[in-house]
Amino acid sequence: MKYNGKTKFIIVTGGVLSGLGKGVAAASIGSLLCGRMKVVPVKCDGYLNTDPGTMNPTEHGEVYVLDDGGEVDMDFGHYERFLNIQTRFKWNLTMGKVFKQILEKERKGDYLGKTVQFLPHVTNLIKEHIFTIATEEQADIMLIEIGGTVGDLENQFYIEAVRQLSHDVGHENRMFVHLTYVPIPSGVGEQKSKPTQMSVRELNEKGIYPDLVIGRCSEYLTPIIKEKIALFCNIEPNQVISGVDVQNVYEIPLIYEKEGLSEIVSKHLRIYAPPKLEQWSRLVHNINRNLATPRKVLQVAICGKYTTLEDSYASVVEAIKHSAAHLDLRVNINWVDTEKVETEGNEPAKWLDGMHAVIVPGGFGSRGIEGKITLIQHVREQGIPFLGICYGMQLAVVEYARNVRGLKGANTTEVEKDGIKVESPVIAYLPGQEKIREMGATMRLGGHDVLVKSGSVAQKVYGGATKIRERFRHRYEVNPIFVKDLEKDGFVFSGKSSTEDIMQIMELSNHPYFLGCQFHPELQSTLLQPAPLFLELLRVADERC
Ligand code: GLN
Repeated sequence: MKYNGKTKFIIVTGGVLSGLGKGVAAASIGSLLCGRMKVVPVKCDGYLNTDPGTMNPTEHGEVYVLDDGGEVDMDFGHYERFLNIQTRFKWNLTMGKVFKQILEKERKGDYLGKTVQFLPHVTNLIKEHIFTIATEEQADIMLIEIGGTVGDLENQFYIEAVRQLSHDVGHENRMFVHLTYVPIPSGVGEQKSKPTQMSVRELNEKGIYPDLVIGRCSEYLTPIIKEKIALFCNIEPNQVISGVDVQNVYEIPLIYEKEGLSEIVSKHLRIYAPPKLEQWSRLVHNINRNLATPRKVLQVAICGKYTTLEDSYASVVEAIKHSAAHLDLRVNINWVDTEKVETEGNEPAKWLDGMHAVIVPGGFGSRGIEGKITLIQHVREQGIPFLGICYGMQLAVVEYARNVRGLKGANTTEVEKDGIKVESPVIAYLPGQEKIREMGATMRLGGHDVLVKSGSVAQKVYGGATKIRERFRHRYEVNPIFVKDLEKDGFVFSGKSSTEDIMQIMELSNHPYFLGCQFHPELQSTLLQPAPLFLELLRVADERC
Protein backbone atom coordinates (compact mmCIF):
# COMPACT_ATOMS: atom_id res chain seq x y z
CA MET A 1 0.00 0.00 0.00
CA LYS A 2 1.36 3.40 -1.00
CA TYR A 3 0.62 6.95 0.15
CA ASN A 4 -2.84 8.02 -0.98
CA GLY A 5 -1.69 11.58 -1.72
CA LYS A 6 -4.39 13.12 0.45
CA THR A 7 -3.83 12.35 4.15
CA LYS A 8 -1.67 14.71 6.21
CA PHE A 9 0.39 13.20 9.03
CA ILE A 10 1.12 14.67 12.43
CA ILE A 11 3.72 12.60 14.24
CA VAL A 12 4.07 13.04 17.97
CA THR A 13 7.23 11.93 19.76
CA GLY A 14 8.30 12.44 23.35
CA GLY A 15 11.61 13.26 24.97
CA VAL A 16 13.39 13.73 28.30
CA LEU A 17 10.93 11.85 30.51
CA SER A 18 8.13 9.38 30.20
CA GLY A 19 4.84 10.29 31.79
CA LEU A 20 4.66 13.80 30.30
CA GLY A 21 1.21 13.09 28.89
CA LYS A 22 1.98 12.39 25.25
CA GLY A 23 -1.38 10.69 24.80
CA VAL A 24 -3.26 13.72 26.12
CA ALA A 25 -1.04 16.03 24.04
CA ALA A 26 -1.79 14.06 20.86
CA ALA A 27 -5.50 13.92 21.73
CA SER A 28 -5.53 17.67 22.39
CA ILE A 29 -3.97 18.44 19.00
CA GLY A 30 -6.57 16.16 17.42
CA SER A 31 -9.40 17.84 19.27
CA LEU A 32 -8.44 21.21 17.81
CA LEU A 33 -8.56 19.82 14.28
CA CYS A 34 -11.43 17.35 14.39
CA GLY A 35 -14.17 19.99 14.10
CA ARG A 36 -13.54 20.28 10.37
CA MET A 37 -11.39 17.29 9.42
CA LYS A 38 -11.48 13.56 9.83
CA VAL A 39 -8.70 12.87 12.33
CA VAL A 40 -7.54 9.27 12.80
CA PRO A 41 -5.20 8.56 15.72
CA VAL A 42 -2.68 5.72 15.51
CA LYS A 43 -0.55 4.62 18.44
CA CYS A 44 2.75 2.77 18.03
CA ASP A 45 3.85 0.86 21.14
CA GLY A 46 7.25 -0.73 21.53
CA TYR A 47 6.28 -3.65 23.77
CA LEU A 48 6.03 -7.24 22.62
CA ASN A 49 2.59 -8.03 23.99
CA THR A 50 0.09 -8.24 21.15
CA ASP A 51 -2.18 -5.98 23.18
CA PRO A 52 -2.44 -4.85 26.81
CA GLY A 53 -5.38 -7.22 27.51
CA THR A 54 -3.17 -9.53 29.51
CA MET A 55 -1.27 -6.84 31.42
CA ASN A 56 -1.97 -6.20 35.07
CA PRO A 57 -3.84 -2.90 35.43
CA THR A 58 -1.73 -1.93 38.45
CA GLU A 59 1.30 -2.02 36.16
CA HIS A 60 -0.04 -0.69 32.91
CA GLY A 61 -3.17 1.20 33.85
CA GLU A 62 -6.65 0.44 32.68
CA VAL A 63 -7.36 -1.87 29.74
CA TYR A 64 -9.55 0.15 27.41
CA VAL A 65 -12.00 -1.83 25.28
CA LEU A 66 -13.10 -0.65 21.86
CA ASP A 67 -16.39 -1.20 20.08
CA ASP A 68 -14.71 -3.70 17.74
CA GLY A 69 -13.60 -5.77 20.75
CA GLY A 70 -9.95 -4.64 20.70
CA GLU A 71 -8.16 -4.25 24.02
CA VAL A 72 -5.90 -1.22 23.99
CA ASP A 73 -4.29 1.14 26.46
CA MET A 74 -5.49 4.28 28.13
CA ASP A 75 -4.31 6.59 25.36
CA PHE A 76 -7.19 5.35 23.24
CA GLY A 77 -9.45 6.54 26.01
CA HIS A 78 -7.94 10.01 25.62
CA TYR A 79 -8.39 9.92 21.86
CA GLU A 80 -12.04 8.93 22.09
CA ARG A 81 -12.85 11.38 24.86
CA PHE A 82 -11.12 14.33 23.19
CA LEU A 83 -12.14 13.61 19.61
CA ASN A 84 -15.60 12.20 20.28
CA ILE A 85 -14.93 9.26 17.94
CA GLN A 86 -14.88 5.47 18.01
CA THR A 87 -11.36 4.17 17.44
CA ARG A 88 -10.35 0.74 16.15
CA PHE A 89 -8.03 -2.02 17.32
CA LYS A 90 -6.11 -1.81 14.07
CA TRP A 91 -5.08 1.74 14.98
CA ASN A 92 -2.88 0.35 17.75
CA LEU A 93 0.36 -1.08 16.48
CA THR A 94 2.57 -2.95 18.95
CA MET A 95 5.95 -4.51 18.26
CA GLY A 96 4.26 -7.78 19.24
CA LYS A 97 1.79 -7.35 16.36
CA VAL A 98 4.53 -6.26 13.96
CA PHE A 99 6.81 -9.25 14.63
CA LYS A 100 3.89 -11.67 14.58
CA GLN A 101 3.00 -10.53 11.08
CA ILE A 102 6.63 -10.63 9.90
CA LEU A 103 7.06 -14.19 11.15
CA GLU A 104 3.77 -15.32 9.60
CA LYS A 105 4.74 -13.80 6.26
CA GLU A 106 8.17 -15.43 6.43
CA ARG A 107 6.62 -18.87 7.03
CA LYS A 108 4.22 -18.38 4.16
CA GLY A 109 7.14 -17.60 1.88
CA ASP A 110 5.99 -14.03 1.18
CA TYR A 111 9.58 -12.77 1.19
CA LEU A 112 10.49 -14.92 -1.82
CA GLY A 113 13.69 -16.37 -0.44
CA LYS A 114 15.10 -13.05 0.70
CA THR A 115 16.87 -12.53 4.04
CA VAL A 116 14.19 -10.99 6.29
CA GLN A 117 15.70 -7.90 7.95
CA PHE A 118 14.78 -5.14 10.33
CA LEU A 119 15.42 -2.72 7.49
CA PRO A 120 13.54 -2.70 5.19
CA HIS A 121 11.07 -5.43 6.18
CA VAL A 122 10.05 -4.28 9.65
CA THR A 123 9.95 -0.59 8.72
CA ASN A 124 8.07 -1.35 5.51
CA LEU A 125 5.46 -3.29 7.41
CA ILE A 126 4.96 -0.37 9.81
CA LYS A 127 4.63 2.13 6.95
CA GLU A 128 2.25 -0.11 5.04
CA HIS A 129 0.07 -0.49 8.10
CA ILE A 130 -0.08 3.29 8.50
CA PHE A 131 -0.81 3.94 4.81
CA THR A 132 -3.48 1.23 4.77
CA ILE A 133 -5.35 2.81 7.66
CA ALA A 134 -5.03 6.28 6.10
CA THR A 135 -6.66 5.02 2.93
CA GLU A 136 -9.25 2.75 4.53
CA GLU A 137 -10.41 5.52 6.83
CA GLN A 138 -10.09 8.30 4.24
CA ALA A 139 -8.31 10.27 6.92
CA ASP A 140 -7.70 13.96 6.38
CA ILE A 141 -5.26 13.96 9.28
CA MET A 142 -3.51 10.98 10.75
CA LEU A 143 -2.15 11.55 14.20
CA ILE A 144 0.67 9.09 14.91
CA GLU A 145 1.80 8.82 18.50
CA ILE A 146 5.11 7.02 19.01
CA GLY A 147 5.24 5.42 22.45
CA GLY A 148 8.05 5.96 24.95
CA THR A 149 10.81 8.55 24.60
CA VAL A 150 13.14 9.08 21.62
CA GLY A 151 16.09 7.19 23.07
CA ASP A 152 14.20 3.95 23.79
CA LEU A 153 15.64 1.07 21.85
CA GLU A 154 12.27 -0.64 21.47
CA ASN A 155 10.77 2.28 19.55
CA GLN A 156 13.60 2.78 17.05
CA PHE A 157 11.88 1.00 14.19
CA TYR A 158 8.87 3.27 14.48
CA ILE A 159 11.13 6.32 14.49
CA GLU A 160 12.94 5.08 11.40
CA ALA A 161 9.63 4.22 9.73
CA VAL A 162 8.23 7.72 10.24
CA ARG A 163 11.49 9.26 9.05
CA GLN A 164 11.03 7.35 5.80
CA LEU A 165 7.35 8.18 5.71
CA SER A 166 8.24 11.85 5.94
CA HIS A 167 10.26 11.49 2.75
CA ASP A 168 7.52 9.47 1.04
CA VAL A 169 4.74 12.00 1.64
CA GLY A 170 6.68 15.25 1.38
CA HIS A 171 7.34 18.12 3.75
CA GLU A 172 3.96 19.88 3.50
CA ASN A 173 2.05 16.66 4.17
CA ARG A 174 3.62 15.80 7.47
CA MET A 175 4.51 17.56 10.66
CA PHE A 176 6.71 16.42 13.54
CA VAL A 177 5.67 17.44 17.04
CA HIS A 178 8.02 16.81 19.94
CA LEU A 179 6.85 16.92 23.54
CA THR A 180 9.61 17.66 26.06
CA TYR A 181 10.09 18.80 29.60
CA VAL A 182 11.25 22.24 30.72
CA PRO A 183 12.25 22.05 34.39
CA ILE A 184 12.50 24.93 36.83
CA PRO A 185 15.05 23.58 39.31
CA SER A 186 14.48 24.73 42.85
CA GLY A 187 17.21 27.11 43.90
CA VAL A 188 17.75 28.16 40.27
CA GLY A 189 14.22 29.39 39.83
CA GLU A 190 14.24 29.71 36.03
CA GLN A 191 13.10 27.62 33.09
CA LYS A 192 15.88 25.44 31.69
CA SER A 193 16.14 24.40 28.04
CA LYS A 194 19.04 21.93 28.16
CA PRO A 195 16.98 18.72 28.48
CA THR A 196 14.91 19.84 25.47
CA GLN A 197 18.03 20.65 23.46
CA MET A 198 19.46 17.24 24.19
CA SER A 199 16.34 15.34 23.32
CA VAL A 200 15.85 17.31 20.09
CA ARG A 201 19.49 16.61 19.19
CA GLU A 202 18.84 12.90 19.70
CA LEU A 203 15.86 13.14 17.38
CA ASN A 204 17.97 15.04 14.80
CA GLU A 205 20.53 12.23 14.86
CA LYS A 206 17.76 9.94 13.70
CA GLY A 207 16.96 12.26 10.83
CA ILE A 208 13.92 13.94 12.34
CA TYR A 209 13.59 17.70 12.75
CA PRO A 210 10.57 18.75 14.82
CA ASP A 211 8.31 21.43 13.35
CA LEU A 212 6.66 22.12 16.67
CA VAL A 213 8.00 21.70 20.20
CA ILE A 214 5.66 21.50 23.17
CA GLY A 215 7.48 22.23 26.42
CA ARG A 216 5.78 20.70 29.40
CA CYS A 217 6.40 23.01 32.33
CA SER A 218 4.86 24.08 35.60
CA GLU A 219 4.50 27.57 34.11
CA TYR A 220 3.94 29.14 30.70
CA LEU A 221 7.21 29.20 28.74
CA THR A 222 8.85 32.62 28.70
CA PRO A 223 9.68 34.35 25.38
CA ILE A 224 13.38 33.92 26.24
CA ILE A 225 13.15 30.15 26.62
CA LYS A 226 11.04 29.88 23.47
CA GLU A 227 13.72 31.73 21.54
CA LYS A 228 16.45 29.56 22.93
CA ILE A 229 14.66 26.32 22.07
CA ALA A 230 13.73 27.67 18.62
CA LEU A 231 17.36 28.44 17.88
CA PHE A 232 18.39 24.87 18.57
CA CYS A 233 15.58 23.38 16.55
CA ASN A 234 15.78 25.51 13.41
CA ILE A 235 12.24 26.76 14.00
CA GLU A 236 10.60 30.08 14.88
CA PRO A 237 9.88 30.94 18.54
CA ASN A 238 6.14 30.75 17.82
CA GLN A 239 6.65 27.09 16.95
CA VAL A 240 7.54 26.43 20.58
CA ILE A 241 4.44 26.26 22.73
CA SER A 242 3.70 25.81 26.41
CA GLY A 243 2.33 22.57 27.76
CA VAL A 244 1.63 24.05 31.15
CA ASP A 245 0.63 21.81 34.08
CA VAL A 246 -3.10 21.96 34.73
CA GLN A 247 -5.52 20.44 37.18
CA ASN A 248 -8.06 19.83 34.45
CA VAL A 249 -6.72 17.95 31.38
CA TYR A 250 -9.64 19.12 29.24
CA GLU A 251 -8.16 22.60 29.41
CA ILE A 252 -5.07 21.54 27.45
CA PRO A 253 -6.56 22.00 23.95
CA LEU A 254 -7.58 25.53 24.97
CA ILE A 255 -4.05 26.28 26.21
CA TYR A 256 -2.51 24.95 23.01
CA GLU A 257 -4.91 27.08 21.03
CA LYS A 258 -4.04 30.17 23.05
CA GLU A 259 -0.42 29.44 22.20
CA GLY A 260 -1.31 29.35 18.51
CA LEU A 261 -1.29 25.65 17.76
CA SER A 262 -3.97 25.33 15.11
CA GLU A 263 -2.56 28.28 13.17
CA ILE A 264 0.92 26.75 13.12
CA VAL A 265 -0.47 23.38 12.03
CA SER A 266 -2.75 24.92 9.39
CA LYS A 267 0.11 26.92 7.92
CA HIS A 268 2.50 24.02 7.81
CA LEU A 269 0.07 21.46 6.44
CA ARG A 270 -1.78 23.99 4.26
CA ILE A 271 -5.20 23.20 5.62
CA TYR A 272 -8.16 25.28 6.74
CA ALA A 273 -8.89 24.20 10.28
CA PRO A 274 -9.99 26.88 12.74
CA PRO A 275 -11.19 24.91 15.77
CA LYS A 276 -14.77 24.74 16.98
CA LEU A 277 -14.48 25.05 20.71
CA GLU A 278 -17.61 26.75 22.01
CA GLN A 279 -19.20 23.88 23.88
CA TRP A 280 -15.83 22.50 24.96
CA SER A 281 -14.80 25.88 26.44
CA ARG A 282 -18.06 26.19 28.32
CA LEU A 283 -17.64 22.77 29.93
CA VAL A 284 -13.96 23.36 30.75
CA HIS A 285 -14.99 26.64 32.34
CA ASN A 286 -17.57 24.76 34.45
CA ILE A 287 -14.95 22.28 35.63
CA ASN A 288 -12.47 25.02 36.54
CA ARG A 289 -15.05 27.14 38.31
CA ASN A 290 -16.13 24.15 40.39
CA LEU A 291 -12.53 23.34 41.26
CA ALA A 292 -12.10 26.88 42.63
CA THR A 293 -15.52 27.80 44.05
CA PRO A 294 -17.86 24.85 43.66
CA ARG A 295 -21.62 25.29 43.39
CA LYS A 296 -21.85 22.00 45.26
CA VAL A 297 -19.45 19.22 46.24
CA LEU A 298 -20.62 15.61 45.95
CA GLN A 299 -18.75 12.84 47.72
CA VAL A 300 -18.62 9.73 45.56
CA ALA A 301 -17.11 6.43 46.71
CA ILE A 302 -15.43 4.07 44.25
CA CYS A 303 -15.13 0.70 45.92
CA GLY A 304 -12.64 -1.64 44.31
CA LYS A 305 -9.49 -3.66 44.46
CA TYR A 306 -6.85 -1.82 42.47
CA THR A 307 -7.41 1.34 44.43
CA THR A 308 -3.69 1.88 44.90
CA LEU A 309 -3.50 2.93 41.28
CA GLU A 310 -6.15 5.34 40.16
CA ASP A 311 -5.17 4.68 36.55
CA SER A 312 -6.81 1.25 36.81
CA TYR A 313 -10.15 3.03 36.88
CA ALA A 314 -9.19 5.99 34.72
CA SER A 315 -12.29 5.90 32.52
CA VAL A 316 -14.62 5.73 35.55
CA VAL A 317 -12.93 8.84 36.94
CA GLU A 318 -13.20 10.64 33.60
CA ALA A 319 -16.86 9.66 33.20
CA ILE A 320 -17.56 11.22 36.60
CA LYS A 321 -15.79 14.42 35.52
CA HIS A 322 -17.83 14.61 32.30
CA SER A 323 -21.13 14.34 34.14
CA ALA A 324 -19.99 16.76 36.85
CA ALA A 325 -19.12 19.33 34.17
CA HIS A 326 -22.63 19.07 32.72
CA LEU A 327 -24.29 19.27 36.13
CA ASP A 328 -22.05 22.18 37.14
CA LEU A 329 -20.73 20.63 40.33
CA ARG A 330 -17.58 19.20 41.80
CA VAL A 331 -17.13 15.55 42.72
CA ASN A 332 -14.65 14.40 45.32
CA ILE A 333 -13.73 10.79 44.73
CA ASN A 334 -13.23 8.63 47.80
CA TRP A 335 -11.36 5.39 47.12
CA VAL A 336 -12.52 2.49 49.24
CA ASP A 337 -10.31 -0.60 49.22
CA THR A 338 -12.77 -3.44 49.70
CA GLU A 339 -10.10 -5.84 50.93
CA LYS A 340 -9.65 -3.50 53.86
CA VAL A 341 -13.41 -3.49 54.42
CA GLU A 342 -13.04 -7.23 55.00
CA THR A 343 -9.95 -7.16 57.17
CA GLU A 344 -10.58 -4.03 59.19
CA GLY A 345 -14.09 -4.89 60.28
CA ASN A 346 -17.26 -5.22 58.32
CA GLU A 347 -18.90 -2.00 59.45
CA PRO A 348 -20.12 -0.49 56.15
CA ALA A 349 -21.22 2.86 57.57
CA LYS A 350 -17.63 3.55 58.58
CA TRP A 351 -16.49 3.36 54.96
CA LEU A 352 -19.42 5.11 53.36
CA ASP A 353 -20.08 7.82 55.88
CA GLY A 354 -21.02 11.06 54.11
CA MET A 355 -21.12 9.51 50.61
CA HIS A 356 -23.73 10.92 48.23
CA ALA A 357 -23.25 8.18 45.66
CA VAL A 358 -21.42 4.86 45.44
CA ILE A 359 -19.87 3.10 42.46
CA VAL A 360 -18.67 -0.49 42.44
CA PRO A 361 -16.67 -0.79 39.21
CA GLY A 362 -15.46 -3.83 37.27
CA GLY A 363 -13.05 -6.38 38.67
CA PHE A 364 -11.86 -9.95 38.63
CA GLY A 365 -11.26 -12.79 41.08
CA SER A 366 -12.37 -13.32 44.64
CA ARG A 367 -10.22 -10.86 46.57
CA GLY A 368 -12.23 -8.07 48.14
CA ILE A 369 -15.63 -9.21 46.88
CA GLU A 370 -17.20 -9.89 50.28
CA GLY A 371 -16.29 -6.30 51.19
CA LYS A 372 -18.06 -5.09 48.06
CA ILE A 373 -21.15 -7.15 48.87
CA THR A 374 -21.26 -5.68 52.38
CA LEU A 375 -21.11 -2.15 50.97
CA ILE A 376 -23.76 -2.88 48.33
CA GLN A 377 -26.15 -4.14 51.01
CA HIS A 378 -25.62 -0.91 52.91
CA VAL A 379 -26.33 1.36 49.93
CA ARG A 380 -29.39 -0.69 48.99
CA GLU A 381 -30.83 -0.52 52.48
CA GLN A 382 -29.90 3.12 53.08
CA GLY A 383 -31.14 4.42 49.72
CA ILE A 384 -27.75 5.77 48.62
CA PRO A 385 -27.57 6.24 44.82
CA PHE A 386 -25.62 3.31 43.38
CA LEU A 387 -24.10 2.28 40.10
CA GLY A 388 -22.67 -1.24 39.78
CA ILE A 389 -20.51 -1.78 36.72
CA CYS A 390 -19.85 -5.28 35.36
CA TYR A 391 -18.56 -7.12 38.45
CA GLY A 392 -20.36 -4.42 40.44
CA MET A 393 -23.66 -5.46 38.87
CA GLN A 394 -22.94 -9.16 39.32
CA LEU A 395 -22.22 -8.64 43.01
CA ALA A 396 -25.36 -6.52 43.40
CA VAL A 397 -27.29 -9.55 42.11
CA VAL A 398 -25.43 -11.83 44.55
CA GLU A 399 -26.18 -9.46 47.42
CA TYR A 400 -29.87 -9.29 46.55
CA ALA A 401 -30.13 -13.07 46.16
CA ARG A 402 -28.52 -13.61 49.55
CA ASN A 403 -30.10 -10.92 51.65
CA VAL A 404 -33.53 -10.41 50.08
CA ARG A 405 -34.31 -13.75 48.45
CA GLY A 406 -32.69 -15.75 51.23
CA LEU A 407 -30.33 -17.74 49.01
CA LYS A 408 -27.56 -17.71 51.59
CA GLY A 409 -25.18 -19.67 49.37
CA ALA A 410 -25.55 -17.30 46.41
CA ASN A 411 -22.34 -16.31 44.68
CA THR A 412 -20.57 -16.10 41.34
CA THR A 413 -18.86 -19.23 40.06
CA GLU A 414 -15.82 -17.02 39.48
CA VAL A 415 -14.88 -17.67 43.13
CA GLU A 416 -15.02 -21.47 42.88
CA LYS A 417 -11.77 -23.27 43.59
CA ASP A 418 -10.45 -26.68 44.64
CA GLY A 419 -13.54 -28.33 43.16
CA ILE A 420 -15.87 -26.75 45.73
CA LYS A 421 -19.02 -25.60 43.98
CA VAL A 422 -21.03 -22.47 44.72
CA GLU A 423 -24.37 -23.50 46.24
CA SER A 424 -26.56 -21.01 44.37
CA PRO A 425 -24.63 -19.88 41.28
CA VAL A 426 -26.63 -16.73 40.46
CA ILE A 427 -23.70 -15.51 38.37
CA ALA A 428 -22.13 -18.20 36.23
CA TYR A 429 -20.03 -19.00 33.25
CA LEU A 430 -22.75 -20.29 31.04
CA PRO A 431 -22.29 -23.59 29.28
CA GLY A 432 -22.90 -23.59 25.55
CA GLN A 433 -21.37 -20.15 25.07
CA GLU A 434 -17.70 -21.13 25.04
CA LYS A 435 -17.60 -20.70 21.29
CA ILE A 436 -18.49 -17.03 21.42
CA ARG A 437 -15.92 -16.43 24.07
CA GLU A 438 -13.05 -18.11 22.29
CA MET A 439 -13.38 -15.60 19.49
CA GLY A 440 -12.81 -12.70 21.84
CA ALA A 441 -9.53 -13.64 23.54
CA THR A 442 -11.49 -15.75 26.09
CA MET A 443 -13.81 -12.92 27.10
CA ARG A 444 -16.96 -11.41 25.69
CA LEU A 445 -15.47 -8.18 24.42
CA GLY A 446 -16.55 -5.04 22.64
CA GLY A 447 -19.78 -3.36 21.62
CA HIS A 448 -23.09 -5.23 21.75
CA ASP A 449 -26.67 -4.10 21.42
CA VAL A 450 -28.83 -4.08 24.54
CA LEU A 451 -32.63 -4.10 24.45
CA VAL A 452 -34.07 -1.77 27.07
CA LYS A 453 -37.35 -2.56 28.81
CA SER A 454 -40.18 -0.09 28.28
CA GLY A 455 -41.09 1.94 31.30
CA SER A 456 -37.86 1.14 33.16
CA VAL A 457 -35.50 3.57 34.85
CA ALA A 458 -32.87 2.56 32.28
CA GLN A 459 -35.16 3.56 29.44
CA LYS A 460 -35.79 6.95 30.98
CA VAL A 461 -32.07 7.47 31.58
CA TYR A 462 -31.27 6.61 27.97
CA GLY A 463 -33.77 9.18 26.73
CA GLY A 464 -36.54 6.71 25.87
CA ALA A 465 -34.34 4.42 23.75
CA THR A 466 -35.42 0.80 23.39
CA LYS A 467 -32.08 -0.32 22.00
CA ILE A 468 -28.66 0.95 23.04
CA ARG A 469 -25.09 -0.11 22.30
CA GLU A 470 -22.48 -0.41 25.02
CA ARG A 471 -19.08 -2.06 25.48
CA PHE A 472 -18.41 -5.28 27.37
CA ARG A 473 -15.46 -7.16 28.85
CA HIS A 474 -16.53 -10.17 30.91
CA ARG A 475 -16.72 -13.95 31.21
CA TYR A 476 -19.60 -14.48 33.62
CA GLU A 477 -23.20 -13.34 33.62
CA VAL A 478 -26.52 -13.65 35.41
CA ASN A 479 -27.62 -17.28 35.45
CA PRO A 480 -31.01 -17.42 33.64
CA ILE A 481 -32.22 -20.18 35.98
CA PHE A 482 -32.51 -17.62 38.77
CA VAL A 483 -34.05 -14.77 36.79
CA LYS A 484 -37.67 -15.58 37.62
CA ASP A 485 -36.95 -15.86 41.34
CA LEU A 486 -35.04 -12.62 41.43
CA GLU A 487 -37.47 -10.53 39.38
CA LYS A 488 -40.18 -9.49 41.79
CA ASP A 489 -40.93 -6.75 44.34
CA GLY A 490 -39.31 -4.05 42.26
CA PHE A 491 -36.22 -5.96 41.16
CA VAL A 492 -36.15 -5.74 37.36
CA PHE A 493 -33.78 -6.82 34.65
CA SER A 494 -34.31 -3.84 32.38
CA GLY A 495 -31.66 -4.57 29.77
CA LYS A 496 -31.19 -7.79 27.84
CA SER A 497 -28.90 -8.94 25.08
CA SER A 498 -30.51 -8.58 21.65
CA THR A 499 -29.22 -11.98 20.55
CA GLU A 500 -29.24 -14.20 23.64
CA ASP A 501 -31.22 -14.56 26.81
CA ILE A 502 -28.69 -12.79 28.98
CA MET A 503 -29.28 -9.96 31.43
CA GLN A 504 -27.39 -6.71 30.91
CA ILE A 505 -29.04 -4.18 33.23
CA MET A 506 -30.67 -4.62 36.65
CA GLU A 507 -32.51 -2.00 38.67
CA LEU A 508 -34.58 -1.61 41.81
CA SER A 509 -37.73 0.44 41.51
CA ASN A 510 -38.09 1.06 45.26
CA HIS A 511 -34.79 2.88 45.56
CA PRO A 512 -33.75 6.44 44.54
CA TYR A 513 -31.23 5.02 42.04
CA PHE A 514 -29.90 1.50 42.21
CA LEU A 515 -28.71 0.30 38.86
CA GLY A 516 -26.24 -2.32 37.70
CA CYS A 517 -24.98 -2.87 34.17
CA GLN A 518 -23.02 -5.78 32.73
CA PHE A 519 -21.28 -3.37 30.33
CA HIS A 520 -18.86 -0.51 30.96
CA PRO A 521 -20.69 2.77 30.33
CA GLU A 522 -17.54 4.72 31.28
CA LEU A 523 -15.88 3.60 28.04
CA GLN A 524 -18.21 5.66 25.89
CA SER A 525 -18.38 8.74 28.05
CA THR A 526 -16.88 11.90 26.59
CA LEU A 527 -16.75 15.47 27.79
CA LEU A 528 -19.26 16.52 25.13
CA GLN A 529 -21.49 13.45 25.59
CA PRO A 530 -21.36 12.09 29.13
CA ALA A 531 -22.53 8.52 29.78
CA PRO A 532 -26.25 8.63 30.73
CA LEU A 533 -25.91 6.16 33.63
CA PHE A 534 -23.26 8.34 35.30
CA LEU A 535 -25.13 11.54 34.59
CA GLU A 536 -28.25 10.17 36.25
CA LEU A 537 -26.30 8.83 39.25
CA LEU A 538 -24.90 12.28 39.96
CA ARG A 539 -28.15 14.06 39.08
CA VAL A 540 -30.03 12.00 41.66
CA ALA A 541 -27.25 12.48 44.21
CA ASP A 542 -27.29 16.23 43.53
CA GLU A 543 -31.06 16.38 43.97
CA ARG A 544 -30.91 14.59 47.30
CA CYS A 545 -28.31 16.71 49.06
N1 GLN B 1 -15.06 -10.81 36.59
C1 GLN B 1 -16.31 -10.59 35.96
C2 GLN B 1 -16.46 -11.39 34.69
O1 GLN B 1 -15.49 -11.86 34.14
C3 GLN B 1 -16.52 -9.11 35.70
C4 GLN B 1 -15.56 -8.56 34.71
C5 GLN B 1 -15.47 -7.06 34.78
O2 GLN B 1 -15.88 -6.46 35.76
N2 GLN B 1 -14.91 -6.45 33.77
O3 GLN B 1 -17.56 -11.55 34.22
